[in-house]
Amino acid sequence: MKKQNDHATRKLERLQLYLKILYKLQNQGRVLISSSQLAKEIDYSEEQIRKDFQLIATKQGKPGVGRRIDDIVADLEEYLGYKKVSNAVVIGVGNLGGAILRYEGFANYGLNVLAGFDIDNSKIGTVINDKPIFSIDNLEKYIPTLDVNIAILTVGKENALEIAQRLVKAGIQGILNFVPIHLEIDEGVIVQNMDLAASLSILAHKVKNKLNND
Ligand code: ATP
Repeated sequence: MKKQNDHATRKLERLQLYLKILYKLQNQGRVLISSSQLAKEIDYSEEQIRKDFQLIATKQGKPGVGRRIDDIVADLEEYLGYKKVSNAVVIGVGNLGGAILRYEGFANYGLNVLAGFDIDNSKIGTVINDKPIFSIDNLEKYIPTLDVNIAILTVGKENALEIAQRLVKAGIQGILNFVPIHLEIDEGVIVQNMDLAASLSILAHKVKNKLNND
């Protein structure tokens, strides 16, 4: 299960990278590209790129000429769901939750962060970056009415599991979990863990190894 997941994640990462590079080429006025030309721009093999393009392509390229960049971009955006907007909310508007509400970059990925929820009366009723902060008491009411399917969890450790269970009951499909605990919840809900401290410690370990070997 884990292996399949890694495989799928790597594929999505590749597709996102192709899209980023193709946007850049589009901006430079380029019209056509072949797998071998794209392979020169990135660290993936021509075979890998061709395989990925076959998976997502709705139009065939011409041998020797390549494909129209506009067509590949449209296919990638469709495959990655960028054109289908997912509504998300932030639960716990502390330093991290607030920063996420202020961040403008999610729209590029088809994500619309609509609002925040908190338990703290001094935050409820305020607005961050045009996004209202609601009382956590209204969670069950707003999740269905705002058509929200993703929650970004940035509450403290103590309350994370209880909130996650409430989110699942309210109909959330996916949780981006920034709280460093294992969330024991319904299998049908997708949890993506973002353990910043663990990632930083892995990075520090790698940097230390690199410095020792230099
Ligand atoms: P951060 O870690 O993001 O800097 P913090 O240190 O101020 O935040 P935390 O205890 O980590 O505080 O909580 C993050 C936010 O989650 C706070 O704004 C807090 O009010 C909110 N919060 C805590 N418990 C709940 C809860 N049960 N429901 C909703 N929000 C909560």
